[in-house]
Amino acid sequence: MDNIRRVVPYVPGEQPAGKVIKLNTNENPYPPAPAVQEILNTDDAELLRKYPDPSIGPLVKALAKEYDLKPEQIFVGVGSDDVIGMSFLTCFAGEKPIAFPDITYSFYDVWAELFRIPYKMIPLKDDYTIDIDDYDGQWGGIIIANPNAPTSIELGIDRVEELVKRHPECVVIVDEAYVDFGGTSAMPLVAKYPNLLITQTFSKSRSLAGLRIGFAVGNPELIKAINDVKYSYNSYTLNRPSIVAGVASLSDRPYFEKICGKVIATREAAKKEMAALGFSFPDSKTNFLFVTHEKVPAEFIQKELKKRNIYVRYWKKPRIDNRLRITIGTDEEMAALYAALKEIISQCK
Ligand SMILES: *Cc1c(COP(=O)(O)O)cnc(C)c1O
Repeated sequence: MDNIRRVVPYVPGEQPAGKVIKLNTNENPYPPAPAVQEILNTDDAELLRKYPDPSIGPLVKALAKEYDLKPEQIFVGVGSDDVIGMSFLTCFAGEKPIAFPDITYSFYDVWAELFRIPYKMIPLKDDYTIDIDDYDGQWGGIIIANPNAPTSIELGIDRVEELVKRHPECVVIVDEAYVDFGGTSAMPLVAKYPNLLITQTFSKSRSLAGLRIGFAVGNPELIKAINDVKYSYNSYTLNRPSIVAGVASLSDRPYFEKICGKVIATREAAKKEMAALGFSFPDSKTNFLFVTHEKVPAEFIQKELKKRNIYVRYWKKPRIDNRLRITIGTDEEMAALYAALKEIISQCK
């Protein structure tokens, strides 16, 4: 049948059942804030019986308070995947191609294909960094992840601002899924640049991947346009339990800072351990390391780790096919990883 839309879907990391050490999809190893757990234990049937607020008002207000923004500057969606998808549909509606790095979140080209948006992938430098000069020209839109995934590298905030400044012809989306692990957010720039849209998620730093909460911050005109597209597709996106749990998560900033701090401390220790094992990697500002070993091929290590019930991410793709993306787990999980790696590497000598 010719009238069927056929696309090549995004492939998420494996979600194995049973007890494994799961370092393959960048989840947070710590539980969500205690206030979230309380909300989820509620027996209030009204929470499920009624439709949610289509404007996701309570969570928008809580985000506005947390980030010192106006509610009109915030769009909330079902994970940042939904937020970015809606933003593609809204902001990248021109004829000119959009631009993004060749090595980045592998959903960007999938959305571009799905929505039939022409696109060009701009190669990262050999050291996996973004050079904003490579984006010179006129685009239908630009999206970068900052820090970038799976490279873990942060583009300096001055470079981000320069990129936004150089491209008043289009919307520049900055996907800040990992910014809470020590990066610098471009959020303060939103008031200054009407073409800047920032997306963030509760999935990683707030330990709520299972609830699916993401948001975008931008100029009120842009946010209204995204909301209008959403209301043209599905009014009730975020469910009621997720809305109240999202508000509860924002209510406990000390807990949020504590678990981010723990992940960062474990990451910094992991840099030393992994280097000692013969791995090299870019300087990560995220909750993962993007590693390559001096002798042992990445694909082999991934398979050997899986035999030992330790899951990490590997892509058989040009330029990154000898790399693993390893999520930072708890100290105990990381100790088990180092022990397994030691064993695997010693077999290969
Ligand atoms: C995890 C991730 C997302 C999606 O996060 P959700 O909010 O869980 O949909 C978006 N962008 C990048 C770069 C990510 O790593």
